[in-house]
Amino acid sequence: MNTFSSIRCRSSLRAAAQPVRYASTSTPSPKSNSRRWLSIAFVGATAAGAGAYIRSQNTSSATLNPDTFTKYSLVSREPVSATSSLFTLRPRQPSDSNYDVYEEAWQTGVWSVMFKQPQLQIGRDYTPLPTTAATTLSVDDENEGCLRFFIRKDPFGEVSRYLHTIAVGAEVEMRGPKIECTIPKDTKDILFIAGGTGIAPALQAGYSLLSRTSADHRPKIHILWANRLKDDCAGGHSDSLKPQPRRGWFSGWFGSSPSRDTVWDAPAVEQEPSSVIVRELEALKSQYPGQVTVDYYVDEENTFITKEAIRKAIEPASEEANKLILVSGPEGFISYMAGPKLWAQGQELQGPLNGVIKQLDLKGWGVWKL
Ligand SMILES: Cc1cc2nc3c(=O)[nH]c(=O)nc-3n(C[C@H](O)[C@H](O)[C@H](O)COP(=O)(O)OP(=O)(O)OC[C@H]3O[C@@H](n4cnc5c(N)ncnc54)[C@H](O)[C@@H]3O)c2cc1C
Repeated sequence: MNTFSSIRCRSSLRAAAQPVRYASTSTPSPKSNSRRWLSIAFVGATAAGAGAYIRSQNTSSATLNPDTFTKYSLVSREPVSATSSLFTLRPRQPSDSNYDVYEEAWQTGVWSVMFKQPQLQIGRDYTPLPTTAATTLSVDDENEGCLRFFIRKDPFGEVSRYLHTIAVGAEVEMRGPKIECTIPKDTKDILFIAGGTGIAPALQAGYSLLSRTSADHRPKIHILWANRLKDDCAGGHSDSLKPQPRRGWFSGWFGSSPSRDTVWDAPAVEQEPSSVIVRELEALKSQYPGQVTVDYYVDEENTFITKEAIRKAIEPASEEANKLILVSGPEGFISYMAGPKLWAQGQELQGPLNGVIKQLDLKGWGVWKL
């Protein structure tokens, strides 16, 4: 595990952000590109990957902030699947300022907070979920500054395991927000490629992008979400995957012409209850009709995000250049899709574009690895 003696946020809302460009899938004109992507927040951290040691701090603030840890209580932990849960946390002390801190982050793009594991004095980053029509948070909870997280339990992981064992009511300290990626205001299309809990930033990106919808600006997001198990995305049905043709029992026996008795699998009747994350995605779709598409891929069903799937997903995008591909998930997933991120001089950098997205040679898309 990588460890570091001190930690600084990738970019906090309070800290000055140093701009860099997204990796791009095309070779754009330097002039237009520099203007377009200069608003992207700098991502450089001394704490990421496996996480970081925390320097002890004696100060504590009632309001979430990037410099000191704020105390929250675990309100509930609801299992989403065998390996993941939905956590709801409420600030221990009421603070009217939390609303403004969260709101500024939501409007900026994708953000995270760092949780502290007090016994080991280490921290890990987690991604707050936005509130949608499917959210079960009460108005009181929302007013009290509750935050929700979708966290996978790594059976050998220090912090995720700790979070899955503490009792409801226990104290959890966190600090942030840390801006992981600013979504430029003029963004029209996002393709979000998510693996596992990488769906949390996809919900954030969708929430931030779509809340900018107006009569003459209807941005769109297409999410490709890969999971190991069906259980991880129970109840999710893809919007754009064509049903697989199957031979009718009759043709199987008598070899009749497929054109006559090939049948299409009817969309699966929803028997299993939808996971809370699938419900959140559905709520986003209902709230912004025609602007959200989600396709599910499941390892155990042998469905994978292929080059063809990515090509298809970007087909309907506008010709204009304000298009962004975001990739989020486990390290190996990001490396496979877009090449690994790099560590240099104590900072986490994007690294060159590689992997499947590079091979696709898509024109006009900015790429950001989360
Ligand atoms: C910006 C950001 C946002 C994130 N958001 C979320 C989120 O919303 N939800 C979520 O679930 N996760 C999220 N993560 C991932 C999260 O931060 C943690 O990395 C994850 O929970 C694992 O942490 P851990 O302490 O449980 O595991 P760790 O203790 O860090 O271990 C991780 C794995 O590495 C192995 N390992 C550890 N040390 C060694 C070693 N020396 N040699 C070999 N193997 C080793 C462990 O066995 C384990 O399998 C996010 C990460 C980032 C960077």
